[in-house]
Amino acid sequence: MESDASLQEEFRTLCTTRCCKFTQQRFAIYSYVKGNRTHPDVNQIWENVRQTVPSITRESVFRILNELADFGVIGRLDKITNARFDGNGTDHGHLICENCGAIFDFELPASLRKLPPFEGFTTKHTELRIGGLCAQCAKNQKQQNKE
Ligand SMILES: [Zn+2]
Ligand SMILES: [Zn+2]
Repeated sequence: MESDASLQEEFRTLCTTRCCKFTQQRFAIYSYVKGNRTHPDVNQIWENVRQTVPSITRESVFRILNELADFGVIGRLDKITNARFDGNGTDHGHLICENCGAIFDFELPASLRKLPPFEGFTTKHTELRIGGLCAQCAKNQKQQNKE
């Protein structure tokens, strides 16, 4: 786990180079999303960030998340049920459990990262989604079938 100081340093640099002004609100949101691997939605993020920044509204959290995602500082997974946000802003793939909604990261195969350019299309990010059943749900279903 990165220390708060080095994470703050990293975020300050990201702010200056690709995004917006450094604020404690933005940093609180970034540091929660960055340190959380569950691909949280806006409500989860708001619930947690409120513990350190009690005055923050859900609207501000949503606005800041979209702002950070638009600048590529964090990732955003749209059209799942609610938008989910991703501490990993670089290109990678997602395994999505169609039963419980859990989302897991996996590294994209090198061949996918080296796709030739598509004519007339500017690729901004690459994501591969694989739908299925997570290990836990598969186990639960097996047990249910036995009973
Ligand atoms: Zn599942
Ligand atoms: Zn991810």
